[in-house]
Amino acid sequence: MPPRHLADLDPEARRAAVKELGLPEFRAKQLSTHYFGRLVRDVAEMTDLPAAAREKIGADLLPHLLTPVRELSCDDGATRKALWRLHDNALVESVLMGYPDRVTACVSSQAGCGMACPFCATGQAGLTRNLSTAEIVDQVVYLAGVAASGAVAGSPPRLSRVVFMGMGEPLANYPRVIAAVRRLTSPAPDGLGLSQRHITVSTVGLVPAMRKLADEDLSVTLALSLHAPDDDLRDELVPVNQRWKVAEVLDAAWEYAARTGRRVSIEYAMIRDVNDQPWRADLLGRLLAGKLAHVNLIPLNPTPGSRWDASPKPVEREFVRRLRAAGVSTTVRDTRGQEIDGACGQLAASSVDGAEAR
Ligand code: SAH
Repeated sequence: MPPRHLADLDPEARRAAVKELGLPEFRAKQLSTHYFGRLVRDVAEMTDLPAAAREKIGADLLPHLLTPVRELSCDDGATRKALWRLHDNALVESVLMGYPDRVTACVSSQAGCGMACPFCATGQAGLTRNLSTAEIVDQVVYLAGVAASGAVAGSPPRLSRVVFMGMGEPLANYPRVIAAVRRLTSPAPDGLGLSQRHITVSTVGLVPAMRKLADEDLSVTLALSLHAPDDDLRDELVPVNQRWKVAEVLDAAWEYAARTGRRVSIEYAMIRDVNDQPWRADLLGRLLAGKLAHVNLIPLNPTPGSRWDASPKPVEREFVRRLRAAGVSTTVRDTRGQEIDGACGQLAASSVDGAEAR
Protein backbone atom coordinates (compact mmCIF):
# COMPACT_ATOMS: atom_id res chain seq x y z
CA MET A 1 0.00 0.00 0.00
CA PRO A 2 1.11 3.58 -0.64
CA PRO A 3 1.89 6.10 2.13
CA ARG A 4 -1.15 7.53 3.85
CA HIS A 5 -2.72 10.68 2.48
CA LEU A 6 -5.23 13.25 3.64
CA ALA A 7 -7.90 11.65 1.44
CA ASP A 8 -7.57 8.33 3.30
CA LEU A 9 -8.77 10.04 6.48
CA ASP A 10 -12.16 11.19 7.66
CA PRO A 11 -12.32 14.70 9.16
CA GLU A 12 -11.75 13.47 12.72
CA ALA A 13 -8.70 11.45 11.72
CA ARG A 14 -7.38 14.49 9.82
CA ARG A 15 -7.57 16.60 12.96
CA ALA A 16 -5.77 13.89 14.93
CA ALA A 17 -3.07 13.59 12.26
CA VAL A 18 -2.45 17.34 12.24
CA LYS A 19 -2.18 17.35 16.04
CA GLU A 20 0.34 14.52 15.91
CA LEU A 21 2.47 16.70 13.66
CA GLY A 22 2.41 19.33 16.42
CA LEU A 23 0.21 21.68 14.39
CA PRO A 24 -2.98 23.41 15.55
CA GLU A 25 -6.17 21.54 14.72
CA PHE A 26 -7.52 24.25 12.43
CA ARG A 27 -4.84 23.30 9.91
CA ALA A 28 -6.86 20.16 9.16
CA LYS A 29 -9.75 22.20 7.84
CA GLN A 30 -7.41 24.50 5.97
CA LEU A 31 -5.85 21.50 4.24
CA SER A 32 -9.23 20.02 3.38
CA THR A 33 -10.32 23.36 1.93
CA HIS A 34 -7.27 23.44 -0.31
CA TYR A 35 -7.52 19.83 -1.44
CA PHE A 36 -11.26 19.18 -1.74
CA GLY A 37 -12.55 22.73 -2.04
CA ARG A 38 -9.94 24.26 -4.37
CA LEU A 39 -8.59 21.04 -5.87
CA VAL A 40 -5.01 21.97 -4.91
CA ARG A 41 -3.06 18.68 -4.64
CA ASP A 42 0.45 20.03 -4.14
CA VAL A 43 1.44 21.35 -0.72
CA ALA A 44 3.88 23.79 -2.35
CA GLU A 45 0.88 25.72 -3.67
CA MET A 46 -0.66 26.06 -0.21
CA THR A 47 1.16 29.31 0.43
CA ASP A 48 -0.98 30.39 3.37
CA LEU A 49 0.63 27.60 5.42
CA PRO A 50 3.87 28.47 7.25
CA ALA A 51 6.89 26.95 5.47
CA ALA A 52 7.74 24.56 8.32
CA ALA A 53 4.17 23.26 8.47
CA ARG A 54 4.15 22.82 4.71
CA GLU A 55 7.13 20.56 4.85
CA LYS A 56 5.69 18.36 7.59
CA ILE A 57 2.30 18.20 5.94
CA GLY A 58 3.75 17.40 2.55
CA ALA A 59 5.73 14.49 3.92
CA ASP A 60 3.05 13.15 6.21
CA LEU A 61 -0.33 13.97 4.69
CA LEU A 62 0.08 14.95 1.06
CA PRO A 63 2.56 12.55 -0.52
CA HIS A 64 2.48 12.39 -4.33
CA LEU A 65 0.50 9.25 -5.03
CA LEU A 66 0.00 9.56 -8.77
CA THR A 67 2.90 10.35 -11.09
CA PRO A 68 1.66 11.28 -14.54
CA VAL A 69 3.14 9.08 -17.29
CA ARG A 70 1.12 10.53 -20.08
CA GLU A 71 -2.13 12.16 -20.98
CA LEU A 72 -4.03 11.70 -24.23
CA SER A 73 -7.13 13.33 -25.60
CA CYS A 74 -9.56 12.68 -28.42
CA ASP A 75 -13.16 13.45 -29.45
CA ASP A 76 -12.06 17.08 -30.03
CA GLY A 77 -10.77 17.36 -26.47
CA ALA A 78 -14.01 16.11 -24.90
CA THR A 79 -12.35 12.85 -23.79
CA ARG A 80 -9.02 12.64 -21.98
CA LYS A 81 -7.18 9.70 -20.59
CA ALA A 82 -4.50 9.94 -17.91
CA LEU A 83 -1.99 7.16 -17.31
CA TRP A 84 -0.50 7.13 -13.81
CA ARG A 85 2.43 5.41 -12.18
CA LEU A 86 1.90 4.56 -8.51
CA HIS A 87 4.58 4.48 -5.79
CA ASP A 88 5.35 0.81 -6.49
CA ASN A 89 5.41 1.31 -10.28
CA ALA A 90 1.95 -0.17 -10.77
CA LEU A 91 0.10 1.62 -13.60
CA VAL A 92 -3.51 2.76 -13.65
CA GLU A 93 -5.64 4.92 -15.91
CA SER A 94 -8.47 7.41 -15.50
CA VAL A 95 -10.72 8.97 -18.12
CA LEU A 96 -12.52 12.33 -18.18
CA MET A 97 -15.55 12.70 -20.45
CA GLY A 98 -17.18 16.04 -21.21
CA TYR A 99 -20.78 16.43 -22.40
CA PRO A 100 -22.78 19.61 -22.98
CA ASP A 101 -24.52 19.27 -19.60
CA ARG A 102 -22.02 17.36 -17.46
CA VAL A 103 -18.49 16.12 -16.93
CA THR A 104 -17.88 12.54 -15.83
CA ALA A 105 -14.75 10.94 -14.39
CA CYS A 106 -14.19 7.23 -14.96
CA VAL A 107 -11.78 5.97 -12.31
CA SER A 108 -9.84 2.84 -11.46
CA SER A 109 -10.32 1.04 -8.16
CA GLN A 110 -7.59 -1.58 -8.59
CA ALA A 111 -4.34 -1.91 -10.55
CA GLY A 112 -5.39 -4.67 -12.92
CA CYS A 113 -8.38 -6.88 -12.15
CA GLY A 114 -8.86 -10.42 -10.94
CA MET A 115 -12.23 -11.08 -12.55
CA ALA A 116 -10.80 -12.41 -15.85
CA CYS A 117 -13.66 -11.45 -18.16
CA PRO A 118 -12.27 -12.61 -21.53
CA PHE A 119 -13.48 -9.61 -23.57
CA CYS A 120 -11.98 -6.98 -21.23
CA ALA A 121 -8.40 -5.76 -21.65
CA THR A 122 -7.88 -5.19 -17.92
CA GLY A 123 -9.18 -8.66 -17.15
CA GLN A 124 -6.49 -10.24 -19.32
CA ALA A 125 -3.62 -8.92 -17.24
CA GLY A 126 -4.81 -10.13 -13.83
CA LEU A 127 -4.80 -8.26 -10.53
CA THR A 128 -1.75 -6.35 -9.33
CA ARG A 129 -3.26 -4.81 -6.18
CA ASN A 130 -6.07 -2.83 -4.62
CA LEU A 131 -5.79 0.94 -4.75
CA SER A 132 -5.90 2.88 -1.50
CA THR A 133 -8.81 5.22 -0.83
CA ALA A 134 -6.60 8.22 -1.55
CA GLU A 135 -5.29 6.75 -4.80
CA ILE A 136 -8.91 6.56 -5.95
CA VAL A 137 -9.94 9.98 -4.64
CA ASP A 138 -6.82 11.68 -6.01
CA GLN A 139 -7.74 10.56 -9.55
CA VAL A 140 -11.05 12.37 -9.14
CA VAL A 141 -9.56 15.49 -7.56
CA TYR A 142 -7.04 15.70 -10.40
CA LEU A 143 -9.76 15.31 -13.07
CA ALA A 144 -12.01 17.81 -11.29
CA GLY A 145 -9.09 20.25 -11.49
CA VAL A 146 -8.74 19.63 -15.24
CA ALA A 147 -12.46 20.30 -15.68
CA ALA A 148 -12.27 23.43 -13.51
CA SER A 149 -9.44 24.79 -15.66
CA GLY A 150 -11.91 24.93 -18.54
CA ALA A 151 -9.91 22.35 -20.50
CA VAL A 152 -13.01 20.38 -21.52
CA ALA A 153 -14.39 22.60 -24.27
CA GLY A 154 -18.16 22.84 -24.49
CA SER A 155 -18.74 21.35 -21.02
CA PRO A 156 -19.49 22.89 -17.65
CA PRO A 157 -16.37 23.45 -15.51
CA ARG A 158 -17.64 21.43 -12.58
CA LEU A 159 -17.08 17.69 -12.48
CA SER A 160 -20.45 16.25 -11.53
CA ARG A 161 -20.28 12.47 -11.98
CA VAL A 162 -17.94 9.65 -11.12
CA VAL A 163 -18.21 6.13 -12.47
CA PHE A 164 -16.18 3.23 -11.06
CA MET A 165 -15.80 1.77 -14.50
CA GLY A 166 -12.06 2.08 -15.00
CA MET A 167 -9.64 -0.68 -14.13
CA GLY A 168 -10.61 -3.14 -11.43
CA GLU A 169 -13.62 -4.60 -9.68
CA PRO A 170 -14.71 -1.97 -7.13
CA LEU A 171 -16.61 -4.39 -4.90
CA ALA A 172 -13.47 -6.55 -4.61
CA ASN A 173 -11.81 -3.52 -2.94
CA TYR A 174 -14.88 -2.84 -0.84
CA PRO A 175 -13.80 -0.84 2.26
CA ARG A 176 -11.52 1.48 0.28
CA VAL A 177 -14.07 2.11 -2.43
CA ILE A 178 -16.78 2.88 0.13
CA ALA A 179 -14.45 5.27 1.95
CA ALA A 180 -13.66 6.91 -1.40
CA VAL A 181 -17.38 7.32 -2.11
CA ARG A 182 -17.77 9.00 1.28
CA ARG A 183 -14.92 11.43 0.52
CA LEU A 184 -16.41 12.20 -2.89
CA THR A 185 -19.86 12.86 -1.50
CA SER A 186 -19.17 14.59 1.83
CA PRO A 187 -20.00 18.29 1.60
CA ALA A 188 -17.00 20.57 0.99
CA PRO A 189 -14.56 21.14 2.58
CA ASP A 190 -14.68 17.68 4.17
CA GLY A 191 -15.09 16.12 0.74
CA LEU A 192 -15.84 16.95 -2.88
CA GLY A 193 -19.58 17.44 -2.34
CA LEU A 194 -20.74 15.32 -5.29
CA SER A 195 -24.26 13.93 -5.22
CA GLN A 196 -24.48 10.25 -4.21
CA ARG A 197 -26.85 9.68 -7.09
CA HIS A 198 -24.19 10.85 -9.47
CA ILE A 199 -21.74 8.16 -8.40
CA THR A 200 -21.99 4.81 -10.19
CA VAL A 201 -20.41 1.67 -8.79
CA SER A 202 -20.14 -1.03 -11.43
CA THR A 203 -19.74 -4.70 -10.54
CA VAL A 204 -19.42 -8.12 -12.14
CA GLY A 205 -21.90 -9.24 -9.48
CA LEU A 206 -20.17 -10.07 -6.20
CA VAL A 207 -23.42 -10.92 -4.43
CA PRO A 208 -22.37 -10.63 -0.76
CA ALA A 209 -20.76 -7.24 -1.45
CA MET A 210 -23.86 -6.08 -3.35
CA ARG A 211 -25.96 -6.95 -0.33
CA LYS A 212 -23.55 -5.12 1.95
CA LEU A 213 -23.68 -2.07 -0.31
CA ALA A 214 -27.46 -2.04 0.06
CA ASP A 215 -26.92 -1.70 3.84
CA GLU A 216 -24.58 1.31 3.59
CA ASP A 217 -27.27 3.96 3.47
CA LEU A 218 -25.74 5.41 0.31
CA SER A 219 -27.88 6.19 -2.71
CA VAL A 220 -25.22 5.54 -5.30
CA THR A 221 -26.20 4.03 -8.64
CA LEU A 222 -25.40 0.35 -8.96
CA ALA A 223 -24.39 -0.95 -12.37
CA LEU A 224 -24.39 -4.69 -12.93
CA SER A 225 -22.26 -6.07 -15.76
CA LEU A 226 -24.62 -8.82 -16.88
CA HIS A 227 -23.62 -9.40 -20.53
CA ALA A 228 -25.71 -12.57 -20.85
CA PRO A 229 -29.17 -13.57 -19.58
CA ASP A 230 -28.33 -17.29 -19.34
CA ASP A 231 -25.82 -19.06 -17.09
CA ASP A 232 -24.25 -21.09 -19.91
CA LEU A 233 -22.96 -18.02 -21.67
CA ARG A 234 -22.45 -15.83 -18.58
CA ASP A 235 -20.24 -18.52 -17.02
CA GLU A 236 -17.88 -17.85 -19.93
CA LEU A 237 -18.18 -14.06 -20.34
CA VAL A 238 -18.15 -13.19 -16.64
CA PRO A 239 -16.38 -16.11 -14.94
CA VAL A 240 -17.54 -15.10 -11.45
CA ASN A 241 -20.96 -16.30 -12.63
CA GLN A 242 -19.72 -19.80 -11.88
CA ARG A 243 -19.97 -18.74 -8.23
CA TRP A 244 -23.08 -16.50 -8.29
CA LYS A 245 -25.60 -17.33 -11.01
CA VAL A 246 -27.75 -14.95 -13.04
CA ALA A 247 -30.83 -15.49 -10.86
CA GLU A 248 -28.88 -14.82 -7.66
CA VAL A 249 -27.11 -11.76 -8.97
CA LEU A 250 -30.38 -10.26 -10.25
CA ASP A 251 -32.02 -10.96 -6.88
CA ALA A 252 -29.26 -8.98 -5.19
CA ALA A 253 -29.75 -6.18 -7.74
CA TRP A 254 -33.51 -6.01 -7.05
CA GLU A 255 -32.83 -5.99 -3.34
CA TYR A 256 -30.49 -3.02 -3.90
CA ALA A 257 -33.18 -1.26 -5.93
CA ALA A 258 -35.81 -1.91 -3.26
CA ARG A 259 -33.57 -0.69 -0.44
CA THR A 260 -32.34 2.47 -2.17
CA GLY A 261 -35.16 3.29 -4.58
CA ARG A 262 -32.45 3.55 -7.24
CA ARG A 263 -32.84 2.07 -10.69
CA VAL A 264 -30.13 -0.51 -11.35
CA SER A 265 -28.17 -0.11 -14.56
CA ILE A 266 -27.75 -3.41 -16.42
CA GLU A 267 -24.60 -3.31 -18.54
CA TYR A 268 -24.57 -5.49 -21.62
CA ALA A 269 -21.66 -5.42 -24.10
CA MET A 270 -23.00 -6.34 -27.53
CA ILE A 271 -20.71 -9.06 -28.92
CA ARG A 272 -21.31 -10.21 -32.48
CA ASP A 273 -22.84 -13.70 -32.71
CA VAL A 274 -22.03 -14.32 -29.04
CA ASN A 275 -24.72 -12.65 -26.91
CA ASP A 276 -26.70 -10.58 -29.44
CA GLN A 277 -29.31 -13.11 -30.67
CA PRO A 278 -33.01 -12.11 -30.68
CA TRP A 279 -33.82 -14.96 -28.28
CA ARG A 280 -31.33 -13.58 -25.76
CA ALA A 281 -32.95 -10.14 -26.05
CA ASP A 282 -36.33 -11.76 -25.33
CA LEU A 283 -34.96 -13.74 -22.40
CA LEU A 284 -33.30 -10.61 -20.98
CA GLY A 285 -36.58 -8.74 -21.47
CA ARG A 286 -38.45 -11.39 -19.47
CA LEU A 287 -35.90 -11.24 -16.64
CA LEU A 288 -36.06 -7.46 -16.39
CA ALA A 289 -39.70 -6.64 -17.21
CA GLY A 290 -41.38 -4.79 -14.36
CA LYS A 291 -38.12 -4.33 -12.46
CA LEU A 292 -36.42 -1.08 -11.42
CA ALA A 293 -33.82 -1.46 -14.16
CA HIS A 294 -32.35 0.29 -17.15
CA VAL A 295 -30.33 -1.52 -19.81
CA ASN A 296 -27.15 0.11 -21.05
CA LEU A 297 -25.97 -1.65 -24.20
CA ILE A 298 -22.26 -1.11 -24.84
CA PRO A 299 -20.97 -1.73 -28.36
CA LEU A 300 -18.04 -4.08 -27.70
CA ASN A 301 -14.66 -2.41 -27.96
CA PRO A 302 -12.52 -5.12 -29.47
CA THR A 303 -9.33 -5.54 -27.44
CA PRO A 304 -6.00 -6.56 -28.98
CA GLY A 305 -5.87 -10.24 -29.82
CA SER A 306 -9.54 -10.76 -29.04
CA ARG A 307 -11.58 -13.07 -31.24
CA TRP A 308 -14.66 -10.96 -30.60
CA ASP A 309 -16.18 -8.04 -32.42
CA ALA A 310 -19.02 -5.57 -31.90
CA SER A 311 -22.51 -6.50 -33.10
CA PRO A 312 -23.59 -4.99 -36.42
CA LYS A 313 -25.86 -1.95 -36.00
CA PRO A 314 -29.02 -3.67 -37.39
CA VAL A 315 -28.55 -6.51 -34.88
CA GLU A 316 -28.09 -3.95 -32.11
CA ARG A 317 -31.24 -2.09 -33.18
CA GLU A 318 -33.29 -5.31 -33.15
CA PHE A 319 -31.95 -6.12 -29.66
CA VAL A 320 -33.02 -2.67 -28.43
CA ARG A 321 -36.43 -3.03 -30.12
CA ARG A 322 -37.14 -6.35 -28.41
CA LEU A 323 -36.10 -5.08 -24.97
CA ARG A 324 -38.28 -2.00 -25.34
CA ALA A 325 -41.16 -4.13 -26.57
CA ALA A 326 -40.84 -6.06 -23.31
CA GLY A 327 -41.22 -2.75 -21.47
CA VAL A 328 -37.57 -2.46 -20.48
CA SER A 329 -35.97 0.98 -20.69
CA THR A 330 -32.88 0.64 -22.89
CA THR A 331 -30.20 2.92 -24.31
CA VAL A 332 -26.98 2.35 -26.25
CA ARG A 333 -23.91 3.88 -24.68
CA ASP A 334 -21.89 6.31 -26.76
CA THR A 335 -18.37 5.10 -27.40
CA ARG A 336 -15.88 7.60 -26.11
CA GLY A 337 -12.11 7.46 -26.15
CA GLN A 338 -11.69 4.67 -28.69
CA GLU A 339 -8.70 6.22 -30.46
CA ILE A 340 -6.79 6.59 -27.20
CA ASP A 341 -7.66 3.12 -25.88
CA GLY A 342 -9.71 4.87 -23.26
CA ALA A 343 -13.05 3.28 -24.09
CA CYS A 344 -14.95 0.73 -21.98
CA GLY A 345 -12.86 -2.32 -21.33
CA GLN A 346 -9.81 -1.02 -23.15
CA LEU A 347 -7.87 0.21 -20.14
CA ALA A 348 -4.73 -1.90 -19.95
CA ALA A 349 -2.01 0.37 -18.70
CA SER A 350 0.91 -2.02 -18.92
CA SER A 351 0.57 -2.59 -22.66
CA VAL A 352 0.12 1.13 -23.27
CA ASP A 353 3.28 1.82 -21.32
CA GLY A 354 5.12 -0.99 -23.08
CA ALA A 355 4.21 0.48 -26.44
CA GLU A 356 5.55 3.82 -25.33
CA ALA A 357 8.83 2.35 -24.12
CA ARG A 358 9.57 0.64 -27.43
N1 SAH B 1 -15.28 -4.55 -12.87
C1 SAH B 1 -16.41 -3.67 -13.03
C2 SAH B 1 -16.08 -2.30 -13.56
C3 SAH B 1 -15.09 -2.14 -14.69
S1 SAH B 1 -15.54 -2.24 -16.36
C4 SAH B 1 -17.46 -4.32 -13.90
O1 SAH B 1 -17.14 -5.31 -14.55
O2 SAH B 1 -18.58 -3.88 -13.91
C5 SAH B 1 -16.87 -1.24 -16.76
C6 SAH B 1 -17.76 -1.86 -17.83
O3 SAH B 1 -17.09 -2.04 -19.10
C7 SAH B 1 -18.26 -3.24 -17.43
O4 SAH B 1 -19.62 -3.35 -17.71
C8 SAH B 1 -17.46 -4.14 -18.35
O5 SAH B 1 -18.05 -5.38 -18.53
C9 SAH B 1 -17.42 -3.32 -19.61
N2 SAH B 1 -16.42 -3.78 -20.57
C10 SAH B 1 -15.28 -4.44 -20.32
N3 SAH B 1 -14.62 -4.72 -21.45
C11 SAH B 1 -15.35 -4.22 -22.46
C12 SAH B 1 -15.17 -4.16 -23.86
N4 SAH B 1 -14.10 -4.68 -24.43
N5 SAH B 1 -16.13 -3.55 -24.59
C13 SAH B 1 -17.21 -3.00 -23.99
N6 SAH B 1 -17.43 -3.00 -22.68
C14 SAH B 1 -16.50 -3.62 -21.91
